[in-house]
Amino acid sequence: NYSFFICVICEICGKKMPTKIKTTCPYCGVGCGVTVDKLAANTEATTVKPDADHPANGGKLGGVLCSKGSALGDTLQLGDRLLHPQINGQQASWDDALNRVAGEFKKAIDEHGPESVAFYVSGQLLTEDYYVANKLMKGYIGAANIDTNSRLCMSSAVAGHKRAFGSDTVPGCYEDFELAQLTVLVGANTAWCHPILFKRIQDARKNNGGQLIAIDPRRSPTAAQADLHLPIKPGTDVLLFNGLLVWLDNHKALDYGYLQQYCNGFTDTLAQARSDAPTLQSVADGCDVDIDLIERFYRAFETTKKTITLFSMGVNQSSQGTDKVNAIINCHLATGRVGVPGASPFSMTGQPNAMGGREVGGLANMLAAHMDFDQAERVQTFWDSPTIAGKPGLKAVELFEKIESGDIKAVWIMATNPAVSLPNVNQVRRALESCEFVAVSDCIAHTDTMKYADVALPAAGWGEKDGTVTNSERRISRQRAFLPQAGESRSDWWIISQVAQRMGYEQGFDYQSAAEVFNEHARLSAFENFGARDFDIGGLAGLSEVGYDSMQPVQWPLTERMEKKSISGTKRLFGQGKFFTPDRRGNLIPVAAAKPANAVNTEYPLTLNTGRLRDHWHTMTRTGKSARLAGHRVEPMLTLHPEDALQFGLRDAHIADVESQWGKATVRVELSKDQRRGEVFLPIHWTDQYSGSAIAGKVVNPAVDAQSGQPEFKHTPVKVSPATMQWHAFVLSRKALDVSGYRYWTKVTGAQHNRYELAGDQALSDTPSWAKALLEVDGELLEYSDPSSDSYRAALITDDQLQAVLVIAKRPTDLPSRDWLSKLFAEDEIAAADRSTLLLAEPPDPAADVGPIVCSCFAVGRNTIQQAITEKGLKTAAEVGGCLKAGTNCGSCVGEIEGLLASTVSQAV
Ligand code: SF4
Repeated sequence: NYSFFICVICEICGKKMPTKIKTTCPYCGVGCGVTVDKLAANTEATTVKPDADHPANGGKLGGVLCSKGSALGDTLQLGDRLLHPQINGQQASWDDALNRVAGEFKKAIDEHGPESVAFYVSGQLLTEDYYVANKLMKGYIGAANIDTNSRLCMSSAVAGHKRAFGSDTVPGCYEDFELAQLTVLVGANTAWCHPILFKRIQDARKNNGGQLIAIDPRRSPTAAQADLHLPIKPGTDVLLFNGLLVWLDNHKALDYGYLQQYCNGFTDTLAQARSDAPTLQSVADGCDVDIDLIERFYRAFETTKKTITLFSMGVNQSSQGTDKVNAIINCHLATGRVGVPGASPFSMTGQPNAMGGREVGGLANMLAAHMDFDQAERVQTFWDSPTIAGKPGLKAVELFEKIESGDIKAVWIMATNPAVSLPNVNQVRRALESCEFVAVSDCIAHTDTMKYADVALPAAGWGEKDGTVTNSERRISRQRAFLPQAGESRSDWWIISQVAQRMGYEQGFDYQSAAEVFNEHARLSAFENFGARDFDIGGLAGLSEVGYDSMQPVQWPLTERMEKKSISGTKRLFGQGKFFTPDRRGNLIPVAAAKPANAVNTEYPLTLNTGRLRDHWHTMTRTGKSARLAGHRVEPMLTLHPEDALQFGLRDAHIADVESQWGKATVRVELSKDQRRGEVFLPIHWTDQYSGSAIAGKVVNPAVDAQSGQPEFKHTPVKVSPATMQWHAFVLSRKALDVSGYRYWTKVTGAQHNRYELAGDQALSDTPSWAKALLEVDGELLEYSDPSSDSYRAALITDDQLQAVLVIAKRPTDLPSRDWLSKLFAEDEIAAADRSTLLLAEPPDPAADVGPIVCSCFAVGRNTIQQAITEKGLKTAAEVGGCLKAGTNCGSCVGEIEGLLASTVSQAV
């Protein structure tokens, strides 16, 4: 039984009051349940705990959250919240702001037609918000120019599903992770990006001895823990899976009965696969992987009926993303491994509500409730709306191109940061700069996108709003408010409804609550459905406010009435066919291997791959506020193979420029043999708020998949060169500093201080004066300088409290560790012993320097782990966990611990 909250009886009025609120993590598509003590919740110190009853992270897992979910309470401070509406940067009333947005949109529509306006929305929105935005654009404005940042993460999966199944359906469920004997991970660093799913996989491997195979150009922390890693050349997934289909047919390992009974397209698909991948050697050559590795993968797939293939951004973010998805699904359809216990293709969605957005038509090429434009009349009838979009609208990349060309006159951006997250960000910024009217709804006051807002609309944040989200296994969960809405912020569905009413659409947008919106959404899903459409949650229609409040996590489709608590929806689809194509048969799709859109060349000889880090989320608007999360990776690092570094004159820990024909970033270098030669990796998180010039999106090419419109974030030709610096420095400061203007700077949140990393290409003529000016100090600093080595160190202590530490050196490798110094800012008063070694940057007791954080859940640093390995002779990650607890919660750091075990042992040898 899933109880949504625990009540106490109010001593004054005798009514039941909920204390423990159950809600859902707002980060990734795993969709973990969390609990919060409402009575103790506040913006400074809310404790967020795992919900042991939630199917995503409870059950056999016993209730666990990853490092990001565990640190949610750190991210609720109001410091940088947008608390009031603003017009042209000035505080305004809601009335004025809403009227202005409605007026500008109406003016553009009246003068230039409905195609001249656009919404760019987000997988961070709740389903109810998404539903209302889509209804306004498609049913009332009458265009389909609403697209979502989910376009960037899973639209290729959507397109692939629709081609194969006739519907955007994930056939399997998380339980399959435990039942599978073979898990194939394609283009997915699951240990970092979907940690709780990876924990399921790892637990299952321990329990049932199953195998894990990782397919990824990088030896990612996930690949490092796999039984077999295929470091394929980027973009060769179609070839690999075409080769697998050929192998399976050659070895009579296909399910010909399932194919005959339930599928179309096998003959043509196999013929195309044979033409692409005639031999094992041709696959090995094309993928640039040892033939033995390919054969081991193929044999494992052939002989393991219970195989689940999980895929994510490495597949989707490609100019052949849709074909890659279908190449995977082809192999599953051909083996009958679709939607049966322990066997399925499975798309892991990036965002918490990417799936919810798909359900309501948040993508420009879909209508609401998984309907296509050929069903526009049905949607219009249900909405009783004045019009309906008759054709697909502009997808994300082309939408911003049309803004720059002036075709789009007014755009409303909701809960996303396209000035960082889209490819070809310089073009996006030009577009926003030139657009006649830009409205931005967000909960954060200062984002790179907010700079372009004519009107800023304060949206309620996580913990302040009510609604639903859908995770990767089609499970709809409630997000529930446990805090009052900050300042004047409001739920997005309310903001959109208010603008709609001011545009003259009172009749369709008089919602009083999120529950009302959800009800309408549920009714539409069932409207004239009769089993013809996959998305049907008619069983949830008609829920009362109380029923909505107490809704348990359920998987769609769900057509039975929800009154019975035991109803939890549909676990799997298509095990017995019944696809949503016109003839109800699944489609194998012939897909041909192709090269990425832009090939490397002599000017841009390296391939840039981009992706996420473990402890950050998107553009860091939330995770950047948490010191424990920020401590895992403190700077934007360009990771490349040591031999490439040698060839291009780059040195470890030095600064480099990475440049494509679309733009440039300046970042720190990290050498790693986990990168293939010729390929470099850059994280996507850094923005102008946290760095001088480290936005990966500025470098990424705008090539997109022709079917899905998803950008090719995983393959951009680039060149790299050393950025020659005269000095390198770090500053730890309680006070925020202005560090803009340096050739290289980054900022990271520490406990009661900020940490800045700086480097300059101009020599400093008078370092002490420069230091005082930077730290804004009139009085004396504690100082140490060694002109012979160009090093200088200073500290500022007032009233026995450490205020700032600054260290400059000629080379970055001459700078001391920051980890112990950072800890001193948590103290109200600096101890005499610590003061004595402050400028040495070494603690009186060496054990006090734990080093960079490896395990965020238990704040265990690298030095502590290395010391324990050496002194106690620890041999395995389990032994490290037993000794230090590191890696025993979510497990997302186990790969790093294993790396430390390997390097510490090899050093000892
Ligand atoms: Fe949140 Fe982590 Fe669960 Fe994703 S895996 S939903 S980030 S707790």
